[in-house]
Amino acid sequence: MTKNALVTGGSGGIGNAICLKLAQAGYHVLIHYYSNKEAATATLEKINGHEGSAELIQFDVTRQDEVKNALQSWKETHQEEYISVLVNNAGISKDVLMVWMEREDWSKVIDTNLNSFYYVTTPLLQDMVVNKFGRIINIVSLSGVKGLPGQTNYAAAKAGVMGATKALAQEVGRKKVTVNAIAPGYIRTEMTKNLDEKELKRLIPANRFGTPEEVAEVVAFLASEGAAYITGEVIHVNGGLYT
Ligand code: NDP
Repeated sequence: MTKNALVTGGSGGIGNAICLKLAQAGYHVLIHYYSNKEAATATLEKINGHEGSAELIQFDVTRQDEVKNALQSWKETHQEEYISVLVNNAGISKDVLMVWMEREDWSKVIDTNLNSFYYVTTPLLQDMVVNKFGRIINIVSLSGVKGLPGQTNYAAAKAGVMGATKALAQEVGRKKVTVNAIAPGYIRTEMTKNLDEKELKRLIPANRFGTPEEVAEVVAFLASEGAAYITGEVIHVNGGLYT
């Protein structure tokens, strides 16, 4: 059976690296994007160029109907297969101090980072349970572990996903489905491009921001057969910034 892996936010910095890594590991990768088809297509071309296997899939993770329809149509055209690896990676931040935070800043961040976990995971979970193999890997954040000022919305969303990770891991452990989270610190992508790395790196024992590839390595490990006994965990990838 083809091993299928869905990476939400495959068009973003960390998502791109995860797609390439999982393709290298032999998965057929569903590269998900929302608005940036160009970036997703570039990733697809890279994978094809290395004789890997991938396809694009588009939906808004904040719209349950869209998610459901996209995953349903994929299923209809792949009746003998299922998505055994899900990487919930799509996410946004909208940093603003709580005193200035508009309802929209709060809701958008909760919808994209937390509600999306529910929308994307539920349609795929049953197949993982029935087939007695599944890997769910949620990209959370250091912000959800220790909290960062200006990110009460984002920290709440990521902490919510961490709680959900631990609860779901206990629900499906017997069915050989593992559920884990990865909490990156500062990683060089679009999301962090306006941060002052020179200034911030002084706080980081590794003395630099991380790379998307360093997050992707951990995803590939958690997705592997060898990680079968690790579940309900949050793995920190932050250069020692906070452990
Ligand atoms: P990017 O901004 O590079 O990528 C974000 C991705 O999320 C894009 O692929 C984007 O799709 C997708 N996305 C945004 N909104 C939606 C939506 N409504 N529906 C579907 N997809 C959406 O960010 P990163 O690669 O840096 O972040 C990836 C994950 O890592 C996020 O969950 C982030 O919170 C987390 N993280 C990042 C850190 C960092 O330092 N960079 C640190 C800790 C955690 P498109 O571009 O196609 O619209």
